[in-house]
Formats: sequence, C-alpha cells, structure tokens
Amino acid sequence: PTRPGQKLGRIEFRDVSFGYGGSAEPALKNISFAAEPGKTTAIIGGTGSGKSTIVNLVARFYDVDSGAVLVDGVDVREMAQDDLRSLLGLATQRPILFSGTIADNLRFGRAEASAEQLGKAADTAQASAFIAEKEGGMDAPIAQGGVNVSGGQKQRLAIARALAKRPRIYLFDDTFSALDFKTDARLRAALRKDTADATVIIVAQRVGTIRDADQIIVLDDGRMVGRGRHADLMKDCGVYREIVASQMSEEEAV
Ligand code: ADP
Ligand code: MG
Repeated sequence: PTRPGQKLGRIEFRDVSFGYGGSAEPALKNISFAAEPGKTTAIIGGTGSGKSTIVNLVARFYDVDSGAVLVDGVDVREMAQDDLRSLLGLATQRPILFSGTIADNLRFGRAEASAEQLGKAADTAQASAFIAEKEGGMDAPIAQGGVNVSGGQKQRLAIARALAKRPRIYLFDDTFSALDFKTDARLRAALRKDTADATVIIVAQRVGTIRDADQIIVLDDGRMVGRGRHADLMKDCGVYREIVASQMSEEEAV
C-alpha cells in the first residue's frame, strides 16, 4: 500500500538468511535493515563477508532461504521479474559491456534516453572526458567484452549506464574501487545531486568512499555487526574501527 506523494524504492531486509547451494556456511545470517529513498546506504566488510550477496538478493538473482526481501513492502518473490528489474539500476564489480558504441552501451537500461540524458549521465559518472578523447566520442565502438577500455573506464561506463536508466533504486557493487581518490570524491558529489530522491546502495572497500553515507552496514562473515553513521560506528563497532585502522596504515605506508 503506497500513499500519494510517497517516495518509492524502499528496500527492507527482514531477518534474511541465505546460503549458496552446495556451500556449508550461509553467506548471510539474520540480516535486517531498511534502505530508504533519498538516502545512501553503504555496505562495507572484508572479502567474502556477504556484500555482493545482499545486492544479488535485491536483484533476485537468488531467493532467500528464510526471512524476506521487500521493496515498498512487497516481497520480491511476489513481484514480476520485469517489474523488479525496471526499478533497479545495477552497476557491478565486473561490468559487462557489449560490442556496439558507447551510446548503445549507456542506453542498455533505457533505449529511449536522449543524447542529452546520456551526456548528463556520463558527466555525473566522470566519464565525459575520456569519452570525448575516443575517436567518435559517444559513437566510439566498444570492442566485445570491453577490452578497449580500462578497468576504471569500464566502471564509470557502468555507473553512467545505471544513471541513464533513472531507476528508483541504485545498486553500486564495488564500482568505485578502480577510481583514484579524486575521481571517487567528485563522482560521489555529483551522484548525490543526481540521485537525490532515489534509494542508493553503495558497496565499497574504502572507508573514504562511504564515510558520508546516511547509514553504513558493517558485515563480518555474513553477519551484520554494525549499522549507523561513521561517527557512531567509530564509537560502537570494533570491526569498523579495525577496517578504518587497517586502511589508515595502508595509506600512511605509501
Ligand atoms: P563480498 O562481496 O563481501 O566479497 P560475497 O557476497 O561475494 O562477498 O560472498 C559471500 C560468501 O559467499 C563467500 O564465502 C563467497 O565465497 C560465497 N559465494 C559468493 N558467490 C558464490 C557463488 N556463486 N557460489 C557459491 N558461493 C558463493
Ligand atoms: Mg563482492
């Protein structure tokens, strides 16, 4: 049941547990949280802690073993796959680009996006400069598998593609890690403006990428061990403090 004027795209995990078939240990254990429209929810945690699994369950690449994932109060298992997917702008760690032009790739989620809208999405994704340098610009060809763009460029095209779709819900799964710190910061500032009403979920490795998030979820071995803003977690969450400390020493060591 939705009210008029209500912002849509609220995601709720209600006591979700899930394991990939064949593995003994569940990838997620008793996860409960809500991601609200107009807010950025960040997910941080070590490799294998379950970050991508949360994204996979929102997109319903898999179904939960127990509990439920809801979008605007509706269990995703009760939604038509197309209806769910149309709400989501997903950019993943290893984005898939197909052969065609850059513009074709950016229009993947919304075929009718105008040239102006693609330009705006590329600006926000900090992709316009390198696109302009390619011969043909937006009409430059992408080779099969995207072998003629770098890892960081691929990630930015994947972000631009999600933005061009203008979905209610953005899922960015580790799409910032290949960016240098300055580009990461500029991108997030632009993103905040461009996704103001949307539900944004950002999975990240670096604390710097997520420290301004409205809510940070800390995962450790499939469990949620902290949830709050950066300052709260620095006070209350040992795992979060350890992540911060390990990254500070890495930076100091450079
Ligand atoms: P993260 O994104 O935090 O690195 P994942 O959500 O990818 O972690 O993985 C959580 C756990 O689930 C890990 O133990 C990982 O090995 C396991 N896992 C992830 N994907 C699969 C899969 N397709 N099949 C079996 N196990 C998987
Ligand atoms: Mg992952």
